[in-house]
Amino acid sequence: MVGSYKPELIVNGKRLDGRMPADLRNITIEVGVVKNAVGSAYIEWGNNKIIAGVYGPKEALPKHVQDPERAIIKCRYAMSPFSSLEEHGRTGPNRRSVEISKVTKEVFENVVLLDRFPGAEIDIFIDVLQADGGTRAAGITAAAVALAASGIPMKDVPFAASVGKVGDTLILDLNKVEDNYSDADMPVAISPRTGDILLLQMDGNLTKEEVKTGIGMIQKAGEHISRLQREALKAPYERILEKYKK
Ligand code: ADP
Repeated sequence: MVGSYKPELIVNGKRLDGRMPADLRNITIEVGVVKNAVGSAYIEWGNNKIIAGVYGPKEALPKHVQDPERAIIKCRYAMSPFSSLEEHGRTGPNRRSVEISKVTKEVFENVVLLDRFPGAEIDIFIDVLQADGGTRAAGITAAAVALAASGIPMKDVPFAASVGKVGDTLILDLNKVEDNYSDADMPVAISPRTGDILLLQMDGNLTKEEVKTGIGMIQKAGEHISRLQREALKAPYERILEKYKK
């Protein structure tokens, strides 16, 4: 509950953290952070800190969940009990984490070439170590890198971000305060190669025009996010090349 107190989210055209409406927070991505995983990635997105780990493909268990035609994806998003400034509440799965796990799984079902691995499962774990709004988008962006790093064939490396609304102003990439007090919040995941929208959720009200403009802002931000994803994937190889140059 946020109560009746509502902070001014935009003062003199700037947001509380100094960003302009269409600015992203700082993002850094690193791959290979969990050595036991087949693929992994760590993302810092503003004050969010998230690890994604991918395991498989391996035989899907229990056997009755197997699909003889294609692999299945299992996804588990979780917020650590210490991830938020406020009391995070009960640990373990809750309604919100079950929902985020489900929508994230559906993002990747649309890009992973599942028919290459009949009867198998691919596990995606997303662990939020520190949360500050937009963790589902940051988690999807990190999991996409972890999957790509695992070598599991994919049609594309998706990214996600959210837009929201404060009064009449659309803002990109809401942090937690903005998420709590803005008039709308719309996380979107996109496949950059095809432009396919893989996830679109909305909290609050946006007009048809605002939805269009908002998706445009996310697509534009995606050029930067996709570049960071690619750079993170290349970095370990570039480090090896550097070594040989010396
Ligand atoms: P997202 O992180 O994708 O924006 P929500 O809109 O559900 O997801 O949550 C917004 C933010 O609120 C989260 O990023 C997190 O910082 C905070 N939050 C969500 N659930 C909890 C919780 N149970 N305890 C404390 N903070 C939470």
